[in-house]
Amino acid sequence: MVKVAVARTGGHDYESIKAAVDRVISLIGGIEDIIRPGYKVVIKPNLVATPTDRLSGGVTRWEVCMAIYEAVQALGAYPVIAESSAAGADTESVIAKCGYQELRDRGIPVIDLKAKECVRCRLPVENGVIFQELDSWELVRDADAIITVPVMKTHDQTEITLGMKNCKGLITDQNKKAFHAQGLIEGVCDLIQTVKPVLEIVDGTFGQQGLGPIFGETKEMNLIVGSRDLVACETVTGLIMGYEPEEVMLTGAASRRGLGEMDMTRIEVVGEKIEDVKSRFKRSSEIEIEGLPSSFRLIFDEQACTGCRNTVISSLMDMKAQELFEYLENMNVIVGPVKYEDLPKDADPENTVLIGKCTNHLKEYGFRSVKGCPPGNADTVQGILGGRLEYGVRYS
Ligand code: SF4
Repeated sequence: MVKVAVARTGGHDYESIKAAVDRVISLIGGIEDIIRPGYKVVIKPNLVATPTDRLSGGVTRWEVCMAIYEAVQALGAYPVIAESSAAGADTESVIAKCGYQELRDRGIPVIDLKAKECVRCRLPVENGVIFQELDSWELVRDADAIITVPVMKTHDQTEITLGMKNCKGLITDQNKKAFHAQGLIEGVCDLIQTVKPVLEIVDGTFGQQGLGPIFGETKEMNLIVGSRDLVACETVTGLIMGYEPEEVMLTGAASRRGLGEMDMTRIEVVGEKIEDVKSRFKRSSEIEIEGLPSSFRLIFDEQACTGCRNTVISSLMDMKAQELFEYLENMNVIVGPVKYEDLPKDADPENTVLIGKCTNHLKEYGFRSVKGCPPGNADTVQGILGGRLEYGVRYS
């Protein structure tokens, strides 16, 4: 049986968080066999972008990383905390805002992988489905063990984002963008089978629901979840958040690749029981967007998957925040394998945008198309604007 441990945190002070992390490590049987004396260990938090508040549930709190750091160091290994924030985001700004600079000031190595001192390298991907190699850093390549430390939160493209997707911060911005164009889910599986994290510890103290990973609503859970098996960890964490394992594309894809266990009959949950701690997270698709023009038509085929649905919703939220709704007047946005006969009668190349590879069969009619499976938000907004306005890429 694969073990996944769930522990409640007794408070928000460092000692309480550390006690919960230590309990999770103890419940899964310790980490002495995966963290050996002398190992170089990369602890990878989720510092995706600068939040308004470090406890908004958007980024991993420093206390969880520090507790892992101390546990690793106690075994005679050499840990570092390392991250590259989302494409276009400034990692140093997140470090400064979220308490990681104070760790640096105490002599804890907190590394911004985007800094020019970090030497880049190519990582070959064995049996890659999307990528044959990845653009990363020597620090990642040379690590003896990688520990992924995500936050418990929803995601506008992948339903939830946990430790597997968190590893995207181990590749360069250019490579991150390629994931959206070429296939996010299978691309993340390529990444996981290459960097092979040995442990996932989820910061479930404050999570984020609704339009995560950045614009979501904070949800207090006061939990730490952990396992050596990332797929099992995400299966259990998903159930705590109210998601069946098969609802989450990445969990299913990683399980099919043999990267871990998602069958609950083969997973032993130790510590707190799922039914005692679970609390449904609001999906990003449940968010209503007020103020859309009445002439705007958003057409989802029933087979359109969550990735594309949520990308479009989150892109519309971006357009609302930037007061761009006037550019939606009389527009048609098409998602999923919609038939030509089912398009609005007035659909023409000027007013119709195709989203994702499932709409490629409609390109022959001259409509403009946004590439990807699912595409990224910035490309989607750009596709809708169609050159009528320059749109700055804020993140991917
Ligand atoms: S392009 Fe198609 S398969 Fe890919 S995420 Fe969108 S709807 Fe799903």
